[in-house]
Amino acid sequence: MELHELTMHQALAAMRRGELTSVELTEAILARIEAVEPKTRAYLTVTAERALEAARQADALRAAGEERPLLGLPIAIKDNLSTRGVETTCASRILEGYVPPFDATVVERLKAAGAVILGKTNMDEFAMGSSTENSAFFPTHNPWDLERVPGGSSGGSAAAVAAGEALAALGTDTGGSVRQPASLCGLVGVRPTYGRCSRYGLIAFASSLDQPGPLTRDVRDAALLMEVMAGHDPRDATTWREPVPDYVAALGEGDLHGLRVGVPKEYFVEGVEAAVEQAVRSAIETLADLGAEIVEVSLPHSETGLPVYYLIAPAEASANLARFDGIRYGYRAEARTLEELYFRTRGEGFGPEVKRRIMLGTYALSAGYYDAYYRKAQQVRTLIRRDFDRAFEQVDVIVGPTSPVTAFRLGERTDDPLQMYLADIFTLSQALAGIPALSLPCGFDEAGLPIGLQIAAPVLREATMFRVAYAYEQATTWHERRPTL
Ligand code: GLN
Repeated sequence: MELHELTMHQALAAMRRGELTSVELTEAILARIEAVEPKTRAYLTVTAERALEAARQADALRAAGEERPLLGLPIAIKDNLSTRGVETTCASRILEGYVPPFDATVVERLKAAGAVILGKTNMDEFAMGSSTENSAFFPTHNPWDLERVPGGSSGGSAAAVAAGEALAALGTDTGGSVRQPASLCGLVGVRPTYGRCSRYGLIAFASSLDQPGPLTRDVRDAALLMEVMAGHDPRDATTWREPVPDYVAALGEGDLHGLRVGVPKEYFVEGVEAAVEQAVRSAIETLADLGAEIVEVSLPHSETGLPVYYLIAPAEASANLARFDGIRYGYRAEARTLEELYFRTRGEGFGPEVKRRIMLGTYALSAGYYDAYYRKAQQVRTLIRRDFDRAFEQVDVIVGPTSPVTAFRLGERTDDPLQMYLADIFTLSQALAGIPALSLPCGFDEAGLPIGLQIAAPVLREATMFRVAYAYEQATTWHERRPTL
């Protein structure tokens, strides 16, 4: 196996045995980036010098007998997570040239755990999108088929890991942006419980939904990264104080006896590709073979997830994005008056999808419409959460497809925002409910494109979710495939 194909835990083991150094590994990844980046375009910024310096430091620490959970592992960061001294743009013109003077908490934790940061990955502008085509700079290509999208909005992170341009990456998930690209790129992607990981330094899209999460090549790597990322942060009052469990220890032995797996009858609906439905159904059989009891459950408000999300997320976005006015950060247009400065900066700085969301959100919040739209959406959000509460009285996890379709072609959905929004039909409601969910590979379609299985768990039950995912992964080989580039 080549160095760029290693999982994090394989690379760590090799480094701990003294068979590999972080500098060797980082050089191999940087060479891989150089070789395949013209095809994938996964990165907005590669910080090669910084990465090599961090790798040298990691090797020195290890030589001095010091171990850390991620010591010497090259990892990429989505460009909406603030990185001290490194440009952070959210793939938006309005933040071009913005260099944060601080690290996001999750980035700080990765660095403290010894990770080598490779650079910043491409994304849909302000994380609004499902294909990475809304990047203001360029689209990213799916390593499994370069004419197709990697998903989004964390598409750069997903493509980088799938293509061997990082061992793992951080993404963010507001309504599916870690899980959907993980599904489309054949990776494991985790959306943690809302508040399990700090949002400090994550440039806000929809604050009641945003969560950072890992994208990795297997479940063990996801558990390892989550252990480092998760935990209380005094700088984010929405983080949980509950101690972070040992997720790696919770992976277990692959036996699922005594575990109840819920399958919502609402998840196999029109619009789900045949290959996806087949792969997910056969994954459910595998879980049964491993000892799990399969239980049909109902989430009656599933179909309200999309309209509720597309009222609440834009409403929050319209408020959060008000701060980008050309005064304090990033891009500033030429103007003679203050008003003209605002108009032109925002008019030129934001792309079409961001403007659409700001307008939708401003409308939903405006006097006269607030009760009909925003308040109503909040009420239905409560019903969605109660659906899950009720289902989790009967089962330990809920499974289904992550995405109704495999990777679609670049350009195929860009003209129709609703088609694009439908890409997240299965990932929005867990986010609205604040529960954890992950995606992992469960098959390939006839064209050789990856399919993802989604596993959701109750609040703070990530360990159960990892245990089920790990058991499935141990029983299958999907996660061992790598795209040929
Ligand atoms: N695709 C969804 C949207 O466009 C979700 C994005 C996300 O999770 N950041 O809003």
